[in-house]
Amino acid sequence: MTDDAAAAPTCLARPLPGPDENGIGCAAARGVDGRPLHAAALKFFWGPMDCGKSTMALQMNYNHARQGRRGLVTTRIDRSLGPQVTSRIGLAHSAVEVTDSLDLRTLVRDTWAEGVRVDYLICDEASFYNVEHVEQMAELVDGYDVDVYAFGLATDFRSCLFPAAQRLFELADEVARIQIEVLCWCGREGLLNARVVDGRVVREGAQVVIGDTADTADVRYQVLCRRHYRSGDLGPRS
Ligand SMILES: [Zn+2]
Repeated sequence: MTDDAAAAPTCLARPLPGPDENGIGCAAARGVDGRPLHAAALKFFWGPMDCGKSTMALQMNYNHARQGRRGLVTTRIDRSLGPQVTSRIGLAHSAVEVTDSLDLRTLVRDTWAEGVRVDYLICDEASFYNVEHVEQMAELVDGYDVDVYAFGLATDFRSCLFPAAQRLFELADEVARIQIEVLCWCGREGLLNARVVDGRVVREGAQVVIGDTADTADVRYQVLCRRHYRSGDLGPRS
């Protein structure tokens, strides 16, 4: 038996003390498999385009870094098309580009091998990752005690879940819809990402086509409420 286990033997047998009790907490609480009960977590934050996901990802990275934690930021198909996370309000941070062949576990191990700590991953644009990457995120949490915070769209332009988003919904410890509201042109809450080609909502095509939200782009995306997504009505300005 280790000293840690000897010092806190009752943690396994009773609930952790609440803030009104002795206030000490029980950081060493471990499951019967010997691993921490309250350790790393996989969290998925989702929302439609323009809801501030990348801004929130960078803010979270900043908050953790300020607490002395070390993390890596990853992305795929960022709007800048470079190895960085950029947000619409002008924030930017260098990032590791996630490719089909990238193994997130190897990324963390290689970083550790360089003597750099990795306490957490910020995975932006996670809905564009492969399902395998999501499995790797889960393993990083369970086997490496690395927190993984994933940010991304839930559904594609057909209003169907991205495979990686589906896997995140299935596996994540915590799933949260980002609460910054994006409004449809009608004033209702925006929920779905419509792909617009030549001024019309299209419902067939490749799952990922890079476009923009600028009105002038050949392929653009517009966030609509479900009612106007289903009717294909882009509003009076279109
Ligand atoms: Zn609407």
